[in-house]
Amino acid sequence: MDMQTSFLDRLFESGLLIDTGVDGLYGRSGQFEDVITAFERLIDTFGGADGAEAMRFPPGMNRALFEKSGYMKSFPQLAGTVHSFCGSELDHMSLLECMEVGDDWTKGQQATDIVLTPAACYPLYPTVAKRGNLPKTGGLFDLQSYCFRHEPSKDPARQQLFRMREYVCMGTEQHVTDFRQKWMDRGLEMMKQVGLDVTIDVANDPFFGRAGKMMVNNQRDQNLKFELLIPITSVAKPTACMSFNYHQDSFGLKWGLNLEDGSVAHTACVGFGLERIALALFHHHGLDVKEWPASIRKTLWG
Ligand code: ATP
Ligand code: ZN
Ligand code: MG
Repeated sequence: MDMQTSFLDRLFESGLLIDTGVDGLYGRSGQFEDVITAFERLIDTFGGADGAEAMRFPPGMNRALFEKSGYMKSFPQLAGTVHSFCGSELDHMSLLECMEVGDDWTKGQQATDIVLTPAACYPLYPTVAKRGNLPKTGGLFDLQSYCFRHEPSKDPARQQLFRMREYVCMGTEQHVTDFRQKWMDRGLEMMKQVGLDVTIDVANDPFFGRAGKMMVNNQRDQNLKFELLIPITSVAKPTACMSFNYHQDSFGLKWGLNLEDGSVAHTACVGFGLERIALALFHHHGLDVKEWPASIRKTLWG
């Protein structure tokens, strides 16, 4: 049995995670949620004074906007679509027969107007673009959403439905790269306050296929993505618990996001993987929160 399986098993045994029978799809105990709530409060104490506009979207987004985002070009392997039965009574009969004999009943399901949100910031860009030019101060947004990625795994830190807290900044290149740097500094400070050893490193997204290789190289060469890494299931391959992304003007161009003077907005986003951070805390300080160091309990619960 490898280390990953045993940490997952310990999480199941302790009740912190609840097995659903699907890898990467877990229920969580009240204690697990309490840690996420406390950590989000800590995020608020760092980001709260910046005056970000809070928005909360459901875990599904407009399919037409998802198509426009280009997600299927870059990450088709991760996407999740919502399909429904849209047939007649006759179709229903054959559906039930199909299920009865164990055939694939999902073949007749039809795509709805909703796809599962792949990252908390995806619904934001078209929403803000609809408002017209950004104000002189640019844009700063506070988001949190369940996200779906089809990447089943026995690693408890790689889930299929997980929560991402994000801040998104829109403005000039200088403005948004300063924002990203500020959150890298804050990320290090926050993790220090909760007793986690972290590193920050340049990273890339898992762009699909041969064309994706070029995207990967470009992203790394230009330092467009950094990750804050914490050892959870492996010390050799620590887990990305935060990411810091600079999109240059690519989202500005795609969605028509413009600054007050009409120039194309640059954008950056920082994301916290909330389940991953909770798991890092449980892995590092133990599965029983009552046993955590007093200073860390104080940081999280006052
Ligand atoms: P990884 O390289 O581990 O796949 P990522 O680069 O795909 O991570 P992002 O797309 O930057 O991650 O997502 C923002 C944050 O969401 C990550 O820093 C991470 O903390 C969290 N996250 C990403 N994928 C998962 C997942 N499958 N399960 C839990 N949290 C995740
Ligand atoms: Zn984002
Ligand atoms: Mg990933």
